[in-house]
Amino acid sequence: MTEGNFSLVEKDHAKKRRMSSDIVAMDMAQPENSAFEKKNGFFVTRGTAWLLLLLFICGLLATGLLVYYYAPDPYPSTVAELHQHETVHINEVKAESKFPMAQRPSTTTTTSPTTSPTSASPTSTSSEAPNMKEMKEMHEDQIEEKEEEIEQEVKSTMHSPEMQEEEEQPAEKPDVRLPRSLKPVHYQVKLQPFVNGNFSIFGYVEIEMEVLEPTAEIVLHIYDIVTHNQTVKLVPADTPDHLGLEIVKHEYDHGRHFYIAHLEEPLEAGQNYILSMNFLGYLNDELKGFYRSSYKDEEGNERWLATTQFQPTHARKAFPCFDEPGMKATFEVYLAREENMTSISNMPLAETLPFEDQEGWYWDRFNTSVPMSTYLVAFVVSDFVYLNSTSDNGTLFRVWARESVINQAEYSNDIGPKILTHFEDYFQVPYPLPKQDMIALPDFSAGAMENWGLITYRETAMLFDPESSAPENQRWVSLVVAHELAHQWFGNIVTPKWWDDLWLNEGFASYVQYIGMDHVKPTWRVMEQFIVDTLQSVFALDCLESSHPISIKVGHPDEISQIFDGISYNKGSSIIRMMSHFLTEASLRKGLSNYLEAFQYDNAEQDDLWEYLTTAAHEDGTLPSDLTVKTIMDTWTLQMGYPVINVTRSLDGTTATVTQERYLLNKKNSMDDRHYSWWVPLNYASQSNPNFTVTSPSVWMKASESEVTVSSLPSSEEWVIFNVQETGFYRVNYDDDNWNLIIQQLKTDHEVIHTINRAQIIDDAMDLARAGHLSYDIALDIYTYLGNETEYVPWKSAVNKLDYLVNLFQRTGAYGALQNYIKDMIVPLYESVGFADNASDHLLTQFKRKTALTWACKLGHQECLDSASAFFQQWMEDPQNNNIISPNIKDTVYCTAIEAGGENEWEFAWNMYLETNVASEKSKLLKAMGCTKKIWLLSRYLEMAFMKDSGIRLQDSDTVFSAVAKNPVGRPLAWTYLRDNWQKIHKYFGKANKRVLKSVTAGFNTKQQLREVKLFQEEHEDDLGAASRAVENAIERITNDIAWMDNNYQNIVDWLESQGYNSKVSNV
Ligand SMILES: [Zn+2]
Repeated sequence: MTEGNFSLVEKDHAKKRRMSSDIVAMDMAQPENSAFEKKNGFFVTRGTAWLLLLLFICGLLATGLLVYYYAPDPYPSTVAELHQHETVHINEVKAESKFPMAQRPSTTTTTSPTTSPTSASPTSTSSEAPNMKEMKEMHEDQIEEKEEEIEQEVKSTMHSPEMQEEEEQPAEKPDVRLPRSLKPVHYQVKLQPFVNGNFSIFGYVEIEMEVLEPTAEIVLHIYDIVTHNQTVKLVPADTPDHLGLEIVKHEYDHGRHFYIAHLEEPLEAGQNYILSMNFLGYLNDELKGFYRSSYKDEEGNERWLATTQFQPTHARKAFPCFDEPGMKATFEVYLAREENMTSISNMPLAETLPFEDQEGWYWDRFNTSVPMSTYLVAFVVSDFVYLNSTSDNGTLFRVWARESVINQAEYSNDIGPKILTHFEDYFQVPYPLPKQDMIALPDFSAGAMENWGLITYRETAMLFDPESSAPENQRWVSLVVAHELAHQWFGNIVTPKWWDDLWLNEGFASYVQYIGMDHVKPTWRVMEQFIVDTLQSVFALDCLESSHPISIKVGHPDEISQIFDGISYNKGSSIIRMMSHFLTEASLRKGLSNYLEAFQYDNAEQDDLWEYLTTAAHEDGTLPSDLTVKTIMDTWTLQMGYPVINVTRSLDGTTATVTQERYLLNKKNSMDDRHYSWWVPLNYASQSNPNFTVTSPSVWMKASESEVTVSSLPSSEEWVIFNVQETGFYRVNYDDDNWNLIIQQLKTDHEVIHTINRAQIIDDAMDLARAGHLSYDIALDIYTYLGNETEYVPWKSAVNKLDYLVNLFQRTGAYGALQNYIKDMIVPLYESVGFADNASDHLLTQFKRKTALTWACKLGHQECLDSASAFFQQWMEDPQNNNIISPNIKDTVYCTAIEAGGENEWEFAWNMYLETNVASEKSKLLKAMGCTKKIWLLSRYLEMAFMKDSGIRLQDSDTVFSAVAKNPVGRPLAWTYLRDNWQKIHKYFGKANKRVLKSVTAGFNTKQQLREVKLFQEEHEDDLGAASRAVENAIERITNDIAWMDNNYQNIVDWLESQGYNSKVSNV
């Protein structure tokens, strides 16, 4: 999966409005924050059992022998929660129940079909006709009546003194994993979503299971689905006419999302059985599970579609299943759709049959899939259109979008098949499906999702309009398409056994995406950009004590969601890049190919991969025979953080003592007394041998060695630079003499040093200074060479690091001096690239121009400000003219003009946002509207972000919030708004949103702000869910920044003064 919005990846301390192109953690949709906090575990069993008992009695009273399962949502899953949200929940049940019947707007033939979909089922593979009819017979009034009764019961439980007592008991973490006694073999899933009706879904599922160990319980996942116990049936697979084995009890464990069928007799090992049931679902608007999305067609009519997002734990919301990645099975999907709609799924359409007795409805049956994990199942019912092409190997390739934007899908349709073919060649494993669909959806929580054979995207990640989208948008589309196609191998063919090894999916896709993109755009030099976009960006996260190892134990859905973050994606891909250099790319490819072959349609762990890579490297002689990949890589994946390598040269310079220590932002405050050390591949270039092409290690520093000596270095007048092309995941520090030699080289002829190493030197030096390993005098002295630098990548590293200083200085008396210093450095760059954009310039020149403009305007360079406002004014006078502002500089122009302007500029931007049909343009305008300095506009904008029907989609709410939070004027507003409306925001997203917390705390660096964030953490201990680590990261970072101010502020003020930038007022 790919991150939703590329501005999400901005570093914690960054506050500029750049469009980063990193791919990191998706902003994953996830179940609500229920369970798993300290108090809850105990109640999951007791509390739920209690509720279920009441449900059961209720059911008996109301309908005789029927017992319904009510989805845990909107009911709280624990008593503790009941106490907290008493009123909210009761009201929710009334007003916003997700229970479809309660919401049915009116009865029409669509919303209340008169014929059972099942009776018209095109298949007769099951012994009995799937009984959807009974589901339909759950009458509206019956259900409403029961809801009321349950409310009463819920209320009475809330006041039970016994329960209150229990609440204080400490709890153990429940085991959320499914038992291993059963293995799903095949699913038949039939769904009739009422996309154009009341959004209910009639469902039927048959699951064939193999019994691995005798068991009297069938445990599987079910969530937000209503089933009817009478329809649950279990038969031996070889005797489908069997009347059904007796299920003595149906149990629903809400906390763990389990349905448990208790059987009279244990099932026999080695036998296969088929469990079937009917259910009722609901196309939700939360962007997860099977959900609905809408858009306006060219006539302004609202059109609906239904689509899915199952990763990591949402398949259970669409149909009952064994929702763990290790439980692979084949899937046969049937989708019912109306005549004017199309349905697509993972596999090609096998046949379409009329839906008996339901005029205008059809059943689409899809071919049975290859064995795959539940989270990769996908289906879409829409009125979209497609473009198609065929890859070289004959795979049918189609790209889908709403009709009015289908021309923007041409670029994806062009590069998709090329990348797919390239990966087949690269991995030496064929793409196994006959087709690959990709679809751009109007509402999508992440950036994209790699569902096998049906990749779903946010529109900004798949559509590209050469007229109005920027080069950066094109790069983003290329990157995401390559990322998702890479997953067809890493993730889909071979899948991690459990989410602990998520990084195997995301790390590989995040590395291989660059290989795919490099193939279709060789002139873009994307492998160089990896350094700033990926490696240096995750350095800034992994230097915190609140980081985590790449490979980490997770259980609960909240914990799983947490690890879709920069560590899994960016650190994962950075250490794979490191491997590809120390093993050589040929050995890496060989090992990967054998691994994919060996585990195809199966699951693996990282140790399996290490084994295959070791074998390949030993065969090729690229790794010493007494060393394994596991020995090396365990030090990188099982422990968090990374080292700084200290290189101290002898007096004559010819030898160097090399040591390693963990690089921490603030070592002094470290509470972690564990000894960290790594296997470090060392190599270097020198002044007399400036060879920056050999990236294999010349020396290995073992994790057990406290130091190594490197000999045969040049004399002390010549520099050495370690970590050639920054292929190792570590920083390098030198003695002052060597630093000064490097600086001298940069000043005299910087091109002797590789572009990537120039970016490395800047990034390492500034962060070493930040953590107190190096003096700022040396780090800042490096910046003096930048006047001669023409390459984008070193510039990008340089401005990224300055962001930190700007942020900390912003509210200090020395800000003016710092501002002038940076301005004097940026203006020559600005003048060299010019404000006027040229679309025919090389991609990197355009990126450089954008960087220069953004900074010049941000620092108040008058000409930049005037030009931006003038362009914007021209556009306001001629709104239909798309050619006034070049796409590359739109971000800067919009933001600058809206910041300088007033209500008119803002309103104009809003209207253009509503009007445009280009998703990337909408996204630029949404971000720019957060740049205004008018407090009332910002307040109104914040309100709109969390208001349905305000024109801002749920998928964009956090973009809007972050845009306001990044604005120094908006930050206090956003923080107050967040604290005052935490419950509302939480409910709006259906989860604790990491991104809003990250963006609003990014600029904090005072003791008061630290207190406030800590208080917030305390108050929301139980509902931070998947955002809890983001808050811990923020607290640690703010603490460090406060210490940094104490230690460094004056030094930098003095240094600025020494450079002629005085902080004092003259003429006093
Ligand atoms: Zn991914």
